[in-house]
Amino acid sequence: MTSQEIRAQFLDFFKGKEHKIVPSAPMVIKDDPTLMFTNAGMNQFKEFFLGNTQSKVKRVADTQKCLRVSGKHNDLEEVGKDTYHHTMFEMLGNWSFGDYFKKEAIAWAWELLTAVYKIDKASLYVSVFEGSDDADNLEMDKEAFDLWKSIVPADRIIMGNKDDNFWEMGDQGPCGPCSEIHVDLRTKEEKTKTPGASLVNQDHPEVVEIWNLVFMQYNRKADGSLENLPEKHVDTGMGFERLCMALQGVKSNYDTDIFKPLIREIEIITGQKYGKDEETDIAIRVVADHIRAVAFSIADGQLPSNTGAGYVIRRILRRAIRYGFTFLDIKKPFIYRLAKVLSETMGQAFPELREQRQLIENVMKEEESSFLSTLEQGLVLLNSVIKSSKNNTIEGEKAFELYDTFGFPIDLTALILEEKGYELDVEGFEKALKAQKDRSRSASEVSKSDWNILMKDAEQEFIGYDSLEAHVKLVKYRKVKTKKEGEQYQLVFNLTPFYPEGGGQVGDKGYLESANGDVTYIVDTKKENNEIVHFATSLPKDVSGTFKAMVDEKQRWRTACNHTATHLLHQALREVLGDHVEQKGSAVHSKYLRFDFSHFSKLTREELRKVENFVNARIDGQLPLEENRSVSMKEAMEQGAMALFGEKYGDTVRTVRFGQSIELCGGTHVKNTGDIWHFKIVSEGAVAAGIRRIEAITSDAVKEFYFQNNRMLFEIKDLLNNAQDPVKAVVGLQDENSALKKQVEQLLKDKAKGLKNELIGELKEINGIQFLAKKVDLDAGGIKDLAYEMGGQVSNLFLLLATEKDGKALLSCYISKDLASNSGLHAGNIVRELGKHIQGGGGGQPFFATAGGKNPAGIEAALDQAKEMVSTTVEK
Ligand code: ATP
Ligand code: MG
Repeated sequence: MTSQEIRAQFLDFFKGKEHKIVPSAPMVIKDDPTLMFTNAGMNQFKEFFLGNTQSKVKRVADTQKCLRVSGKHNDLEEVGKDTYHHTMFEMLGNWSFGDYFKKEAIAWAWELLTAVYKIDKASLYVSVFEGSDDADNLEMDKEAFDLWKSIVPADRIIMGNKDDNFWEMGDQGPCGPCSEIHVDLRTKEEKTKTPGASLVNQDHPEVVEIWNLVFMQYNRKADGSLENLPEKHVDTGMGFERLCMALQGVKSNYDTDIFKPLIREIEIITGQKYGKDEETDIAIRVVADHIRAVAFSIADGQLPSNTGAGYVIRRILRRAIRYGFTFLDIKKPFIYRLAKVLSETMGQAFPELREQRQLIENVMKEEESSFLSTLEQGLVLLNSVIKSSKNNTIEGEKAFELYDTFGFPIDLTALILEEKGYELDVEGFEKALKAQKDRSRSASEVSKSDWNILMKDAEQEFIGYDSLEAHVKLVKYRKVKTKKEGEQYQLVFNLTPFYPEGGGQVGDKGYLESANGDVTYIVDTKKENNEIVHFATSLPKDVSGTFKAMVDEKQRWRTACNHTATHLLHQALREVLGDHVEQKGSAVHSKYLRFDFSHFSKLTREELRKVENFVNARIDGQLPLEENRSVSMKEAMEQGAMALFGEKYGDTVRTVRFGQSIELCGGTHVKNTGDIWHFKIVSEGAVAAGIRRIEAITSDAVKEFYFQNNRMLFEIKDLLNNAQDPVKAVVGLQDENSALKKQVEQLLKDKAKGLKNELIGELKEINGIQFLAKKVDLDAGGIKDLAYEMGGQVSNLFLLLATEKDGKALLSCYISKDLASNSGLHAGNIVRELGKHIQGGGGGQPFFATAGGKNPAGIEAALDQAKEMVSTTVEK
């Protein structure tokens, strides 16, 4: 069975059990402050488990793109070393939101595996939560045990502890006991030798967990205690790659048809062979795995970068590059070339891979080449560290510096040191690393109290499209503490005019006014688990009262102008540059807007002007806002609305239209494009290979921009004595300036010539040497030129010229070549010696050397000693 068929059968099976098949949510999460990447199928349904929102359907199934490289679920370091953990993998899942529970979940899982997929029943093991005698004091999951006992023999039911059989998404939130299903892929002989039951959950590569059935029934509170969820749910997750391994009769995920084409391609590109030796195999697996994580992430709109999710992606790609560099002996970009095979094998299930292939390749290629040159620089640096080390141990601090500032990986450092017979102070490195981690952890630490619930089951409504104020009541609130913002309160209302950050647009600010006139400031608004959370600097005194909630009108107005302008800009770019332009990110603030898009070259001035004109023409055209707040996705697409890759859309969407621009958008907009007044691009540049960024301003900000420019122009005119035509006046000044520069140069030359003749006249002969030691008034470059010119004219020349500037002294020694070779005099050695007088040091070649120092008072002594040196040396 091909992986395509296996995936389809899973979905068909649950469709047959009345499940709605939904698309995978994006792998990169954009609007959840608690999670960067989807790490389990249940993430996109969190709000249903928590009871914040009621799901319209009670049974759902899907395949979900997951990434486990950060936070609670982080498998990165295992990947490649074992054969069954990936960074990016697909999780097949079925869900019940307050509908069926353990009985059906267990029966259907068994039916699918044994009757549909026909896995040998004797090779399956299941596990059940044994209970815990810790603070939670949980009982054994007897219900699950009894259900399993009616299907499988008791000796294949394993009792598991909290680590394996109690699933929690994070430190807080929904959780519950689970039952895992494990498969034993070993040969008959091995099975008789060692019973499979003893290998379950023992990290055995051929006895692996394939499916986890989680029975959500608790909520973990901030103080660590558990409370019952209002309803019981089922959340299952089956590793698709592991399932394929079991069904395709192979013993490694990498031997399935999901990975084989990738591995084949790596073999072709690198000339290495998979299955030859462990080191090479690991490297090949790492590359085959990581291309998926990186490609899927770029297709979701998350490019590698220096911060946040982008940095995690960059590190994954760098891990692959490093393995390629070190173990596959590839010193040039190559991983990007796998995007083609990947889009061929997975493009049917995930069309974004096909449509974004060009971008994926461009971005990866550039990342690869820049990291490879970092690696090379790092090698040079490492060599200099080795050279300057006093013994054969390299300090951990030094290795950390390489790692931290140049991204030079520690395992590579260790490897190179080992090859060269040096040792690495691992302890010192780890200490430095830990210190850095502690610093960043404490900076990002958040502590949250539990929600204080004031109104149960209250509907929460957003009314901010139509009004900027409302009378509201508090549904719940909690206290949060972060290093950056300090202590804040999060408030949820029964209805709100405040727009929560999303779709690139910042959250609203404003205030709450209580009946007695007390004011509470709202500093930000965000969405979390489908609830609109208002961030306040304090808690209103009477939390049960009614408040007037007021959105900061001015900020909202400016933001709306920028948001509408962003849509017009998007349309303009596609019109002026072509249909390949795709939105890759946007930030809509009150002060400016930022728009990232795919395009291969810098925009010319002409193009920028056209784009600006296009937008301004639509502003002048006074196009009214036409919105449809609830239209089916299908209908919206038929109308030509633009949807973004990596964005999660519901069944119904909102469309925003201004003239020919139609977008799926939840943001706030002006009522008429005429409101924007004017649009002005202020910058254009590159963010990554094939991605450009435009920053622009509108309305008040444009007025301010022109006002400032105008003021500057007046200042310039003033400085130019009220010139009528400042441009002409500046050109005049520039001409004058370059004429003056030429004159000065000539004068300096004449002066140097005069000085040269003067100095030649002052030369004294000491034992056949033409000697002069003197303080002159020239800069370092001038002295050097002068010395070389004199050397060209006078043979057997010895010069020591000193100069003083800004409290510093400089000695320059020149010895003509003939003299240097006859006498053994060495300018470098001489300045080093003489430098002591000026409390400095230096060096150089035998013919010319300089020393700088901070004691000009020592110049005289240095000049005297030079004379002495010349006399004594030659007499010898
Ligand atoms: P393991 O103990 O093997 O790491 P897990 O307990 O972390 O698995 P769950 O969180 O229960 O796994 O996830 C559900 C299923 O997803 C697992 O049964 C497994 O088949 C699959 N899975 C989990 N992590 C990975 C991974 N890193 N790569 C591939 N599949 C995975
Ligand atoms: Mg795991």
